[in-house]
Order: sequence, then C-alpha cells, then structure tokens
Amino acid sequence: MSRNRKQQSDPTVTFWGAAKSVTGSMHCLDASGRSVLLDCGLFQGPRAESRRRNQDFPFPPRQIEAVLLSHAHIDHCANLPNLVRQGFKGPIYCTPATRALAGVMLGDAAKIQVEDAAYLNGKREKGEPKVEPLYDGRDVYRTLLQFKAVPYDTPEVIFKGIEATFVEAGHLLGSAMIGLKLDVAGGQRRVTFTGDLGRPGLPILRDPAPIPPGDLVISESTYGGHVHEPVDETAERLGEVVRQTAERGGKVIIPAFAVGRTQTVVYFLHELMRAGRLPGLPIYVDSPMAVRATEVFRSHPECFDESTLQLLAADPELFGPERIHYIESVHDSIALNGRPGPCVIISASGMCESGRVLHHLKHNMEDPRNTILIAGYQAEGTLGRRLVERRPEVRILGQTRVLKAEVVVLNGLSSHADQQDLMRSLTPLAGVAKKVRLVHGEPDRATALADALRGAGFADVVVPDRGEIVTV
Ligand SMILES: [Zn+2]
Repeated sequence: MSRNRKQQSDPTVTFWGAAKSVTGSMHCLDASGRSVLLDCGLFQGPRAESRRRNQDFPFPPRQIEAVLLSHAHIDHCANLPNLVRQGFKGPIYCTPATRALAGVMLGDAAKIQVEDAAYLNGKREKGEPKVEPLYDGRDVYRTLLQFKAVPYDTPEVIFKGIEATFVEAGHLLGSAMIGLKLDVAGGQRRVTFTGDLGRPGLPILRDPAPIPPGDLVISESTYGGHVHEPVDETAERLGEVVRQTAERGGKVIIPAFAVGRTQTVVYFLHELMRAGRLPGLPIYVDSPMAVRATEVFRSHPECFDESTLQLLAADPELFGPERIHYIESVHDSIALNGRPGPCVIISASGMCESGRVLHHLKHNMEDPRNTILIAGYQAEGTLGRRLVERRPEVRILGQTRVLKAEVVVLNGLSSHADQQDLMRSLTPLAGVAKKVRLVHGEPDRATALADALRGAGFADVVVPDRGEIVTV
C-alpha cells in the first residue's frame, strides 16, 4: 500500500484474503494516493490460525482511508469492528440493505467473540495471558456509525479520482458488485469487484445485473467447475419431502443459516402452501437472529424481484406471523419439543455446530417418522456432515443418539453462481477485461474457472496468492 504512494500513476490491488480460499475476503486498492479496502471479512478456520489471521492486519489499519463493502456475510464484513478498534476512522460504503443486515450480523459476531474469549479464559493455565475478544458490542456500535449507505446504480465519489458504483449481485439482500472508475495520468482505468455473485432464479432477490466492464475484473470462483441443481426443481423436492413427512405424522427439521437461507426456505414453503400444494402445517423459525434478519428483509422491498413484489401485494404475510411462527425466547423454543403432530422447524446453525437446532435434532432424530432436511454445504468435521453421511449413531450435546429419522439433502439452494452462471456473466467481458483475477474459491475450483475463461478468450487470468499485487 504505502509503498505505492510515490509512483502513483498506476493503481494496484493487493489480495489479502479469500486468496485460494473461500474465507476472509479482503483486498486493498491503492489509487490516487489513497488506500481503500474492498471487504474486510472474518477468516474462519482452525481456531489458532483464525485468531492470528483476524487479529493482525497485514497493513496498519490507520492507513486505510475507506472501505467498500460488497455484502453482509460474515466472511466479507465481520473483521470491520477489529479494523475500527485498531484505528480505522474512514467511511464504510455499502448499499442501504447491507448496512441494515450488517448491524444484525456484526452484533451476533461480537457476541460469539466475547463468548469465545470467555471460554478460552476459563481453560487458561496459571500465568498465561488473558485472552481478549477480537472485538465487542461497543466496537460494533462505533463501526456502524462509520457506515455510509449508497443506493444501487448511483455513482459515488469516494475520493477525488476514485468513483464507485454498487450494482445488484443477486446473492444476499443488499449484495452488490462494485464498479470502480479510477483517474490516472492521461485517462481512466476501471476495476470491477464481483463480491459474491448470485444465481438467476433465486427467490426474493433480483437476478444479478451484468458484470460492470473493467480493465481488471476480480471475480469470485466458489463453484468453479461445478453445476448446481436448478432452483425450481429444488423447491418442488422441498415440497415433496415436507408433504411425505407430514403424511406419516412426522416433523421436518431444517438446519439453516439465519440470514439468507432461512428466508429462502420460508418463501418456498409459503408459496407452496398458497398454491395449495402443501397442507397448511405450522412452520416455526426458531432463531432470534433469523427473526431480526427477517425484519431487515421486510424493511427493504427495494431489493426484491418482481415475483416477490407481486406475491407481497397479494399477500402481505409472506414473511409474516400468520403461517410462520417466529420464536425468540428460550422458553418457547423448549416448548416446541413437546409439541405433537407434523410441523416444520427451521433453526440455526446451518452446519449443526451450535445453536438451538442441536436441541431439535436431539429430540427428533430417533423417530423414524421425522425428516432432517439438509439444505446447505456441510463442512468436514461438522455434525451436519455426519448426518449427511447417515452415521448410525452421532454425538450431540454430550449424548449419543441413534439416527432413525430420514435424512434428505437438497443441494439446489446455493446462493452462489455455478460454473455456467459465472461463464455466462463473465464471457461478454472477453477482450474488454485485460486482466482477470479469481478469488474466493478453493484452488481446484478457481483453476477450473480460470481454464474455462482462457478457453473463452481471456488472455490474462490468474488465481493470486495471498499478498500478490496486480497493477491495473
Ligand atoms: Zn456471501
């Protein structure tokens, strides 16, 4: 960064996170003598490595003058309070819905940081230094004051010579690609950062806009080389599973992330019931965070696609309490255990590693009438993965339980573009984008996409290492 300030004619981007991995998105743009971060995400991985990577920035936080945030997922925004804690004073630009959703996400992240530190301090040997949380609620509050909302498709001057436009990415409520125009001696250069790119046809959200043209395009590559199942077939299958389970008198337990996936599942179930293709059984969303996130969804209809707006006009209860029961208190959550008869329970966490879903799984997995519906990626080593593998017995909350419930895996609900979507979006830029840099993908995924892009006529495609610098 600062090393570039003297010979400032050519802007550069340094890849500091989500380089050959899918976590900790963070890149530094140096242009017009300014240092601007693109995303400031939390690195998620083994505890010791995560702590080190998140705690220490590879640059002095005070030298960063602004942040441009693509969306509110933890791996894109949740190291911002630490950046602020360490002296970053500048504005954080994002869309209005991202600002609202980031409030929910960062509040929850601070709680986890504080609980984690307390847990480690409890296990601390005598003489070992006390573990400080990465940040706490006060840091989040200060961070949120630095947020500056910019509507979609509205160019915003970040600094003289740096202009940014947020464009629909169709991945999460408020998610955006960022198109940058940078003044250089004798002209202008363009940089495009896709953030996480969504898929056409996802419910609630608008489809991704065309990728803004750039001399340098920094694209995500999460599902390079992979093709998802179609969204509408997945919705059908979801309906079938719920119907069959209800017919045999069972409950459907759906572990889902509180933000994004929960609202997608609620939308599909609501639509199926409205169309009379699913009996009107009760749906419980048991997660305080999902309740707050759903409130943010309700407050930002400007992000909805046409069919969601029509559905809302006909039935304002889309996310509403008429059919869907939102549960905040622990008391009401526990009361669900004794509830007889078929129902759907959606609860976090999505990989069954923590949260209230553990209690629902524990109480329901030994009844063969019930179904555990897995609707997202389950990482190696998680309880969710052991359920997907249909282990005959699993450990859950300190007890061994026999897995008798049916386990169904639905793979079509991903909110990331697959190889076909990425190629469809990027190919129009062949010959326009002089350089493409692929981030936010495991090496084999990113390499698969890189090969396809070269085949489509892109001359300079690289999967950068952490710390690698590209000149625009
Ligand atoms: Zn994301």
